[in-house]
Amino acid sequence: SFQNAPVLVTGGAGFIGANFVLDWFETVGTPLVNLDKLTYAGNPLTLESLKDNPNYTFIHGDICDADLLKRLFAEHRFRAVIHFAAESHVDRSILGPKVFFDTNIGGTHQLLNAAREFYETLTGDERSAFRFHHISTDEVYGTLEPNDPAFSETTQYAPNSPYAASKAASDHLVRAWHHTYGLPTTITNCSNNYGPYHFPEKLIPLILLNAMAGKPLPVYGDGLQVRDWLFVQDHCSAVRAVLERGKPGETYNVGGCNQRANIDVVKTICALLDELLPDSQNVPHSKLITHVQDRPGHDRRYAIDATKIETELNWKPAESFESGLRKTVEWYLANQAWVQGVTSGDYRKWIEQNYSAREVQK
Ligand code: NAD
Repeated sequence: SFQNAPVLVTGGAGFIGANFVLDWFETVGTPLVNLDKLTYAGNPLTLESLKDNPNYTFIHGDICDADLLKRLFAEHRFRAVIHFAAESHVDRSILGPKVFFDTNIGGTHQLLNAAREFYETLTGDERSAFRFHHISTDEVYGTLEPNDPAFSETTQYAPNSPYAASKAASDHLVRAWHHTYGLPTTITNCSNNYGPYHFPEKLIPLILLNAMAGKPLPVYGDGLQVRDWLFVQDHCSAVRAVLERGKPGETYNVGGCNQRANIDVVKTICALLDELLPDSQNVPHSKLITHVQDRPGHDRRYAIDATKIETELNWKPAESFESGLRKTVEWYLANQAWVQGVTSGDYRKWIEQNYSAREVQK
């Protein structure tokens, strides 16, 4: 039946997408096709455990490739699209914004077109079951002053970085494909995620890996930028809740109600490492903290009001910041092989051996 038809996940080799794919096979288990371009942020080693699972299919490809998308929809007859694929790192978007517009806007456009074309062939129950779910960020709402209320679904968009602008544009496309063409879309705007398999250019894994190696811990500016942190598995459960119970045309904000200043996040990681991996001379890891020049246009504060998804879809995060961070630190300590594969670049070699080197974006 259509309920057992595959779902299409895009960007499933990235941080959140891979956690979602692994979580899917622990909770739902129906067929899933993962379409990922394997940019620097895509790591196939994360999904090694699924390679013999008959319900899992990996496709190495680009969401900007209209012909490929058309073929995939015709072949697999997806019951849903869960769209994670994006360029996601703010610092990279400041240095080179173009690829952010190509993938985040152009790619979302192609995916919407392919989904719409397929949706228009559906009738009856299949038509009412189909969903296009778009994953987005709280950064589309811009920045908050210390006493401003948290972002809600009706907060005006005010993106400040090229990354946030590209995600804002993609959200608007998804909205337009619902209102103009009737595509049954949903959107989640989520706060900062952390957890296992996080690429070490982002704050928490960067600090954790540097501290484990005794290297300086770079903190932007005064470190008082406030972020609302969510354990990645709680994001996965929110996406599943929206997929199962969300209303087409709606947006849901997802957050953990865990507002923390960056410097406090860094100090909490140091304290956890002091306990779990004590330095032989008992030097506290916080001695490694080094303030570096702030990022241009750095937003001061993000905070999410998740009342709508909590009340309408009965979703709640399972982890507090403290329990989630402890799980994360323990995961990194127990999964040195994955960390090694990423920091040594071995995962790039894996890609080059498995796919032609020409296809791999350096
Ligand atoms: P990531 O950078 O770790 O992963 C992105 C994945 O997309 C990679 O596997 C990459 O290979 C793939 N990809 C990139 N361009 C592609 C293309 N053109 N075609 C196919 N695949 C492509 O990102 P992430 O942190 O896992 O974020 C996933 C999604 O969640 C993004 O849409 C991001 O905007 C959103 N989001 C992230 C956070 C966060 O804290 N990380 C918070 C809220 C929302």
